[in-house]
Amino acid sequence: MNTTRPGIALILSAPSGAGKTTLVKRLTGDFDRFAYSVSYTTRAPREGEQDGVDYHFVSMNRFEKLAGEGFFAEWARVHDNCYGTPMSSVVANLQQGRDVLFDIDVQGALSLKQWLAGAYVFILPPSRDALVERLTGRGKDSDEIVATRMHNAAGEIAMAREFDYLVVNDDLDTAYDQLRAVYLAQGQRRGVHVGLVDELLDQWKME
Ligand code: 5GP
Repeated sequence: MNTTRPGIALILSAPSGAGKTTLVKRLTGDFDRFAYSVSYTTRAPREGEQDGVDYHFVSMNRFEKLAGEGFFAEWARVHDNCYGTPMSSVVANLQQGRDVLFDIDVQGALSLKQWLAGAYVFILPPSRDALVERLTGRGKDSDEIVATRMHNAAGEIAMAREFDYLVVNDDLDTAYDQLRAVYLAQGQRRGVHVGLVDELLDQWKME
């Protein structure tokens, strides 16, 4: 019996600072079936970020041109910058049976949800205080950016109601176990294994 399954989509959203990137790195490190969806963005690279690995860094002009050509599966303006997921790589990866992991903002996730089946997971911080602490503690962004992100977080968290799964990232190991469980469960959904039951029952017909 053929128990291989087609590629599935795992979509993660969270307010900045909820620990999503750490969870993504851990999951992609543990499962080599994942293709990470590298987004396009107009924001400047942060220290240590590589073009083509973390993001494709492009100008606003180029981004707008690509958006106009229908290049993106979804795109959104987040914190004054634009971010978009390239359609071609999503489709190609899924067709090749690779699982696609999206690290995208809430608006983008919900627009993708209109047409792409998958597990939509929202990562929540344990509290408002914990979120401020994490955003300030990582020291990568100015006070002004931290303030904008905290302001936006409330609106983003309100949208968590539209997602399929919620994971609270208080203890990282616990949050990771929960996320891993969602991923594994999604791979076992009946809709993903179309034909499996028929294939097994055919063996009775052959008797
Ligand atoms: P950052 O600038 O911190 O890397 O990302 C800011 C936000 O943009 C995060 O919530 C991240 O998930 C989101 N983001 C990254 N890539 C995409 C994308 O392709 N589409 C959308 N809608 N959001 C994205």
